[in-house]
Amino acid sequence: MTEEIKLSVLVSLFTWIQRSRPSAKKRSKFRKFLDTFCKPSDYFSAMRLILPSLDRERGTYGLKESVLAICLIDALGLSRDSADALRLVNWRKGGANTGANAGNFALVAAEILQRRQGTVSGGLTIKELNELLDRLASAESRAEKTAIFATLINKTNAQEMKWVIMIILKDLKLGITEKSIFQEFHPDAEDLFNVTCDLKLVCEKLRDPTQRHKRQDIEVGKAVRPQLALRVRDPAAAWKKLHGKEVVVECKFDGDRIQIHKNGTDIHYYSRCILDGEMLVWDSTLNQFAEFGSNQEIAKAAKDGLDSDRQLCYVAFDILYVGDTSVIHQSLKERHEILQKVVKPLKGRLEILVPNGGLNANRPPGEPCWSCIAHSVNDVERFFKETIENRDEGIVIKDLNSKWEPSDRSGKWLKLKPDYIRAGSDLDVLIIGGYYGSGRRGGEVAQFLVGLADRPDPNAYPRRFISFCRVGTGLTDDDLETVAKKLKPYFRKYEYPKKMQPSFYQVTNHSKERPDVWIESPEKSIILSITSDIRTIRSEVFAAPYSLRFPRIDRVRYDKPWHECLDVQSFVELVHSSNGT
Ligand code: ATP
Repeated sequence: MTEEIKLSVLVSLFTWIQRSRPSAKKRSKFRKFLDTFCKPSDYFSAMRLILPSLDRERGTYGLKESVLAICLIDALGLSRDSADALRLVNWRKGGANTGANAGNFALVAAEILQRRQGTVSGGLTIKELNELLDRLASAESRAEKTAIFATLINKTNAQEMKWVIMIILKDLKLGITEKSIFQEFHPDAEDLFNVTCDLKLVCEKLRDPTQRHKRQDIEVGKAVRPQLALRVRDPAAAWKKLHGKEVVVECKFDGDRIQIHKNGTDIHYYSRCILDGEMLVWDSTLNQFAEFGSNQEIAKAAKDGLDSDRQLCYVAFDILYVGDTSVIHQSLKERHEILQKVVKPLKGRLEILVPNGGLNANRPPGEPCWSCIAHSVNDVERFFKETIENRDEGIVIKDLNSKWEPSDRSGKWLKLKPDYIRAGSDLDVLIIGGYYGSGRRGGEVAQFLVGLADRPDPNAYPRRFISFCRVGTGLTDDDLETVAKKLKPYFRKYEYPKKMQPSFYQVTNHSKERPDVWIESPEKSIILSITSDIRTIRSEVFAAPYSLRFPRIDRVRYDKPWHECLDVQSFVELVHSSNGT
């Protein structure tokens, strides 16, 4: 008990948990590990490795599989074009080389490490591992990261290194939920985590599972996991779900969910409060909220003092804490009243969303409101229609008598977005490339790069196709498989490090766009009908000037020949006409 816990012990635990069935057995392995190997002072060191995605103490590593592959290749001293290096870089791909492990980066890496690391444990302790991971998170250059990987490889065997990689990728695939881990750790652990998002605090405060923790509510300065909205299909489903309740419908603003924890300064009447809301961009020349997706740019421009017409604007739609009291147990109706009392809006900077007040007060007469009480399903339908006409993202429908609950998606809040109802027209596009999937679909093409035709001369077939978007959802697994199978004979690999593509295709240099395989020529390909959210976005990734937001495959057009693909010019006209410009 006095010794430092070795990584090898944790690795045995992971292996046991992964293999054991049912879930109760997995949980008892975890309990046994805590009781046998950990002192209370070790809890956090261990828990942050068991639940790496919840650890907020360490910064991000900035290491997705592609960069991780290069670090490992260099740390192992492999030549970048050696067979093993290529297998790591092309970890998603199947074929004779990567076999059953394709699509699982850690397994592909373990296979390569196996031949170089031996099986004897490297003796690393979890304390040392955490120190190395801290250094990895703060390392600024790839060379520094590579050096840390070299140290890690020196002090582990291939099994241990495999789990270290999974910890870095923050996905252990243990087949046990974070809820079960928390429950086994302490009966109050999940609650406390939900209102603090602080794993360290949970491990320090809840050392004895027989001692119940005093019910902990939210605190200023500690992030709380947000109340979430449940997706519904249409207004009738929403109305049925909230049958008999007092209901408010609100615009679903398309920005970033942000909690404001205020302690001091004077925009508000109260010195301490927690607001829940959405950060948006306000265009003061147009006097309206700006397009989705510009927040980061605006924040940057505002910081650099560049953009004077656009500014960040916070829309508070809820309040969680006032003065020295949490108000999440009060009803939404009461919280709206508090919000109005506590926050003084500042046009275009800080707005509040409450029915019959707040933001609504700025709406010119006759314009739809941002938030209103719904008395019938017709009210919800009308509000939803106005939202679509207004090109907003959708609506949120809330039970006015509900309390605010961290991490809850049980249906106190419902969301309805036009893309679930099918808006916009179907677009017939041509498959020009494919991307390999991961996990279950590892080694198989699971997504497509689709293109639009460059408008041909009259009576001629198109000769060039312009990359347009990446799409994978919408079809059943079987249908997707059939398409991939039909195209398989025409797939041509986009080999690393060569970057050639067939000359029929126009693409950008953006790395997100590059498919794993190309279709060798357009006349071999298949047309897909795709739909999307009503909005298009200006594209930086693809060669076409616009791309789609949340595209989905509606059906496969085996009946339509390749040359009947929509052309870019018609698509741009469609975008402009539907934007009214
Ligand atoms: P989505 O991708 O649909 O925005 P999500 O998974 O981020 O969903 P959900 O809880 O499902 O989050 O949907 C609610 C989200 O909608 C909130 O996280 C918030 O960012 C956003 N939102 C915009 N306007 C409102 C509003 N008036 N009330 C509540 N949430 C709103």
